[in-house]
Amino acid sequence: MKIICIGRNYAEHAAELNNPVPQRPVIFMKPATALLTDGKPFYHPDFSNNIHYELELVIKICKNGKYIPVEQAHLYYDQIGLGIDFTARDLQDELKAKGHPWEIAKAFDHSAVISKFFSLSDYDKTAIRFQLKKNEAVVQSGVSSDMIFGFDYIVSYVSRFFTLQLGDLIFTGTPAGVGKVEIGDRLEGILEGQSILFCQVK
Ligand code: ZN
Repeated sequence: MKIICIGRNYAEHAAELNNPVPQRPVIFMKPATALLTDGKPFYHPDFSNNIHYELELVIKICKNGKYIPVEQAHLYYDQIGLGIDFTARDLQDELKAKGHPWEIAKAFDHSAVISKFFSLSDYDKTAIRFQLKKNEAVVQSGVSSDMIFGFDYIVSYVSRFFTLQLGDLIFTGTPAGVGKVEIGDRLEGILEGQSILFCQVK
């Protein structure tokens, strides 16, 4: 399986990092070794002094496909969950300044925390609300209607470049409010009022 991530998909988040709103989805990937599941703790890596949380809606691919038309895209994903796209912001800033790829800042071990997944048929895809709490305080609040590129467009666009396969995950971008984590922080992801993701930073 692979993990595909969309960058800068919420206008307010693009603005908070002084990035322009993209004309096309910004895509990067993480390997399967980036996954952190089942509420396991995240051990702060020693190569960064500025690890940021980014809470995101994550969709799961349920059918193999390539060159998927936008109108058919909804047939290719059927589950939703939450994920944290941990980012070594200090490394990313250095890489961006040099025009280098982001992998060491974005795709390192356990940088993709995921919750359990739920059937999308129970949600209104156009208005899914989600929140991140850090140590009980709400630090991010998002709604899928604020995405610059919606789920169907993302699936269609990504499949032009990469064959999508059963079980692949797509992180669909983070809303504003990203910030640093410190050892001892406790992160909690809430999807439509339900707490479904927990991550202790150790
Ligand atoms: Zn992200």
